[in-house]
Amino acid sequence: MSALPSHARVVIIGGGAVGASALYHLAKASWTDCVLLEKNELTAGSTWHAAGNVPTFSSSWSIMNMQRYSASLYRELGALVDYPMNYHVTGSIRLGHSKERLQEFKRVVGMGRYQGMDLDILTPDEMRGKYPFLETHDLTGALYDPYDGDIDPAQLTQALAKGARDMGAKIFRFCPATGARRDGDEWVISTPQGEIRCEKVVNAAGYYAREVGKWFGRDVPMMVMSHQYILFEEIPELAAWSKEAGHKLPLLRDVDSSYYLRQEKTGMNLGPYERNCKAHWVTPDDPMPDDFSFQLFPDDLDRLEWYLNDAVERVPILGTAGLSRMINGPIPYAPDGNPLIGPMPGVPNAYEACVFTFGICQAGGAGKVLAEWVTEGETEWDMWSCDPRRYTSFAANKDYCIAKGMEIYGHEYAMHFPKHAWPAGRDQKLSPIHDRIAALGAQFKPYNGWERAMWYARPGDDTSEESTQTWNREGPWRPRIEEECRAVTEAAGILDLPGFSRFRVKGEGATAWLSTLTTGKLPKPGRIGLAYFADDKGRIVTEMSVMMLAEDFFFLITAATAQWHDLEWLQKHLPKDAAFTIDDVTDAFSCQILSGPNSRAILADVSDADLSKGWLTHQSCQIAGRWCQLVRVSFAGELGWEIHTKIEDTAAIFDAVWEAGQKHGLKPFGMEALDSLRIEKGYRAWKGDLSTDYTVLQGGLDRFVDWAKPDFKGKAALEREKQQGVSKRFVLLTVEAGDCDAPYMSTLWHGGQVVGETTSGNWGYRVGKSIALGMLRADLAIAGTEIEVEIYGDRFKAVVQPDGPLFDPNNERLRA
Ligand SMILES: Cc1cc2nc3c(=O)[nH]c(=O)nc-3n(C[C@H](O)[C@H](O)[C@H](O)COP(=O)(O)OP(=O)(O)OC[C@H]3O[C@@H](n4cnc5c(N)ncnc54)[C@H](O)[C@@H]3O)c2cc1C
Repeated sequence: MSALPSHARVVIIGGGAVGASALYHLAKASWTDCVLLEKNELTAGSTWHAAGNVPTFSSSWSIMNMQRYSASLYRELGALVDYPMNYHVTGSIRLGHSKERLQEFKRVVGMGRYQGMDLDILTPDEMRGKYPFLETHDLTGALYDPYDGDIDPAQLTQALAKGARDMGAKIFRFCPATGARRDGDEWVISTPQGEIRCEKVVNAAGYYAREVGKWFGRDVPMMVMSHQYILFEEIPELAAWSKEAGHKLPLLRDVDSSYYLRQEKTGMNLGPYERNCKAHWVTPDDPMPDDFSFQLFPDDLDRLEWYLNDAVERVPILGTAGLSRMINGPIPYAPDGNPLIGPMPGVPNAYEACVFTFGICQAGGAGKVLAEWVTEGETEWDMWSCDPRRYTSFAANKDYCIAKGMEIYGHEYAMHFPKHAWPAGRDQKLSPIHDRIAALGAQFKPYNGWERAMWYARPGDDTSEESTQTWNREGPWRPRIEEECRAVTEAAGILDLPGFSRFRVKGEGATAWLSTLTTGKLPKPGRIGLAYFADDKGRIVTEMSVMMLAEDFFFLITAATAQWHDLEWLQKHLPKDAAFTIDDVTDAFSCQILSGPNSRAILADVSDADLSKGWLTHQSCQIAGRWCQLVRVSFAGELGWEIHTKIEDTAAIFDAVWEAGQKHGLKPFGMEALDSLRIEKGYRAWKGDLSTDYTVLQGGLDRFVDWAKPDFKGKAALEREKQQGVSKRFVLLTVEAGDCDAPYMSTLWHGGQVVGETTSGNWGYRVGKSIALGMLRADLAIAGTEIEVEIYGDRFKAVVQPDGPLFDPNNERLRA
């Protein structure tokens, strides 16, 4: 073996499927001066024992993108790198036991077809045609994924490694990284074979990612689950069928029972995600070993018994088979079950590609995404679902990670209904008035750990988890959300909004600098405005409210979940010699939204503010003898103020406003009502309507672009796009929907073709209509155009609305 070089452009720590794919994709991008360090043999972590299933199915657009890319790469990889491997594209059948499951499948079929895949829905008869051994009496239908299959994970890793090596990248096996330190602009990675310096480093250490992260001062939010599959001996009937058919059975996933069943040669492989699951290496009596290479946990058949019996009822020939072997290995889980791919939060030139739960089917796409982050600093697809910065520090808490990891694993195939809040790991961050709003009936959901009221139940309302198991608009919440919207429209509503991310930018040069990052004009002192931040391609990176307090002194306010992402965007563009500072002051403040025609009268009773100040102004004032900042904006689209308070004064200020509000009809309202109110105004939400999948011009945000500014980030690209014309354009649609409003990424149809997609949808209670925001082919984005929206498999008529709010188009209520 050659000696470890003293320097490389990139060092990847970890040689599983993901690390190898990262190296391969870096080399493909001509970054060949890259080194992968593996402490044992390649694949020694989770990869060697993985079952190797390669589904494309996901209800997340970005993860589907990644898995689709993987499957198509794997089909050609053997030939590309001259390393033949076992990859069986068998197709898969995903069984549905309920109407809701079929709806989920139909939505995924719509997304899959939009990504160019021929996914389909099967009837029970069609299932039996593809899978003659199947019991179908209790099934409502199935999803057929013709691209699903299984690959040998070790061969896949070796193929990627060979491809990378052939292009010039280097792999050092039995060469553990043992530490990392920063020296100037370089990382110095230590190994028993000496030190290696690099510009950039990637943590691809699988279930050891938390240990590796520590060297960088990074606490990786993750835990480790034990996952098993059972291999069965030959089943003569299956062997005979397969011989005659000339192919294997499609893989079967009984997602409601929570297992997959796959033909393995002439036997079978059963892999459950059991409810009674087990975490490993989480208690002092079960410490994580320094090295677990090529090792397994002891078999634990008892845990799988229910699933085994269920599978035998589903496919009775399984009952005739002898059990040949069990595999019980470690899988890392992040608190939402998605991997971490992208910049390592708070650490310069360091990246993560780790904590993969489905690292075999995602390795191909993950390598592409990681290589883009490293070489270009941005990705082709918006990958927020996997961005490590989607978590902030609270999420690294071990108990939280264990609770969430076990919840996700035990519900690996669960449907994620819009009104459902997963119960594990809750109450991480509570608003100072949490108890008060809980007593008013608040039904909570976490946003970056902060519990916020979604809607307010009345005594006797059904607030059970079961009631939320629906995609429908209708439910116990509906009359309450409607009442909350009405209160905001006719009287006043107050919404407790803890966790708004906020950054203070202060010092000489702050105004000039901020102006180079935002596409539009900055507000004047005393005013607030929305600002859009674009990347060099003109794509929407983020949106912040910019409050100018004085020249060179700003408060930037952004979504709770955007805290680390947006702060990093600002810090990344900070000039080295900046005379101003950026501070994250999120935890020092809280916020109440007071909205509705009576809000002025309420504030007049309790504050010393000048309430004649117009829309988009802000001022300091006193409520209940305490300081607060009143900001005259309303995401609900009514007369209203945001009341920004010091965290310790929040309760006193809320109490005063609440008491004063009683004679003015003040009611609490929640995030559900706010979402309905904002969609009627066409206000975009971050990482749905606003993402790097769209440019600022496609997003219809032209009025937030100041072309006269000498320069701003993304200007050149946006000018080019302006000249050429946009290919698609943001639209607000009214939809003659059925029981459900359009979820994210529902396809838009015209003339028998898909012509766009929704980015969000909801019912508008003030206008009495189902509304969707979306991106439509530019030539169709004209008011009055009739199109169709596919919602859970059915198409509904929709009409493009004039550019502007649907409710109160001239913003008269806001300006009142
Ligand atoms: C029983 C079972 C079945 C599974 N089936 C599937 C499946 O069908 N489909 C699917 O998509 N996924 C499956 N998975 C999950 C899959 O195995 C993992 O998601 C995937 O292997 C993760 O790959 P990785 O490269 O991220 O991590 P790993 O394969 O764990 O690789 C990380 C590597 O880093 C190395 N390393 C750690 N620390 C250091 C260090 N300090 N220096 C150098 N090297 C270091 C380790 O030795 C290891 O080789 C299964 C998992 C289990 C347990």
